[in-house]
Amino acid sequence: MILTEFDYARPAALDEALALLSATRGARVLAGGQSLLPDLRTGADSARLLVDIRQLAELRGSTRTPDGRHLRIGALTTLADLAADPLVLAEAPELAAAARANGDPQVRNLGTVGGNLAAAGRATDLPVAAVAADAVVELAGPGGRTGLPAEEFAAGAPPAGQILTALLVPAAGAAAAFEKSADRATRYPVCAAAVRITPDGPRIAVTGATPRPLRLRRVEDRLRGGPYATEAVLAAFRAEPRELFVPGRGTSAEYLGHLAGVLTARALQRAERALA
Ligand SMILES: Cc1cc2nc3c(=O)[nH]c(=O)nc-3n(C[C@H](O)[C@H](O)[C@H](O)COP(=O)(O)OP(=O)(O)OC[C@H]3O[C@@H](n4cnc5c(N)ncnc54)[C@H](O)[C@@H]3O)c2cc1C
Repeated sequence: MILTEFDYARPAALDEALALLSATRGARVLAGGQSLLPDLRTGADSARLLVDIRQLAELRGSTRTPDGRHLRIGALTTLADLAADPLVLAEAPELAAAARANGDPQVRNLGTVGGNLAAAGRATDLPVAAVAADAVVELAGPGGRTGLPAEEFAAGAPPAGQILTALLVPAAGAAAAFEKSADRATRYPVCAAAVRITPDGPRIAVTGATPRPLRLRRVEDRLRGGPYATEAVLAAFRAEPRELFVPGRGTSAEYLGHLAGVLTARALQRAERALA
């Protein structure tokens, strides 16, 4: 039961949803409700008005952009649909794997791409994959639409007054992978790593072990040219400053740095095998 009072609106158009958000202080976007509703129940979050965007059909589904170089993944695409989408499996396998690793079937059937990207305060799975993929978050606001690199989006506050409409992901073929070590109780990542192998070298991002999803550019530089043998990847992580890794419940910075290295090595080796 949710003990605080709030109003509820179910707009039929994006403009209407944006108008409701800017007209009401404390208005919040509601998508699948898998983070927001539990947080309202526990009092960890609050809302004066819930703007339920689930009628906005144009925010659902994935397509290839006309130039063929990106996927446009609608913000209301569910995690279950993302995990099973043949286009995403072929062109952005790290995103499909991150969606598949998320929570349980109920969470994946209701939770959305936009909600997982926008849910603040906890390490979540999709943002780290979006950062490694060099994806762009598309936002609609009163001033029109803007695009923000996923890395920048992950570093800032959640989008007040704006609606995340889509994620634009460069098409990678099979050269990408995601690995996660999940907390046994919550399924959230203790640490997750996402990688892409590009002609310019590897792109590597980590979350859970770090304060937010982070691209690890020094590690990328140390590993440029490969091969991605486990010991070489672990050595590249050992050279990182310990303060990068934030100890959590029962974990130390050393443990998290090592775990991040192990998961990154696995992801690089998986991506390399897929390329062969
Ligand atoms: C039992 C359980 C296990 C879970 N395990 C995991 C896990 O392993 N890994 C993981 O990453 N997550 C996990 N989660 C969290 C869950 O996957 C995400 O929170 C969920 O995907 C959020 O999507 P949603 O559509 O339900 O968002 P909502 O709960 O509706 O919204 C979440 C937040 O995002 C905002 N928001 C939503 N959509 C938009 C949009 N389009 N534009 C702007 N703001 C928006 C909302 O205002 C709110 O602040 C778990 C949750 C539960 C309940």
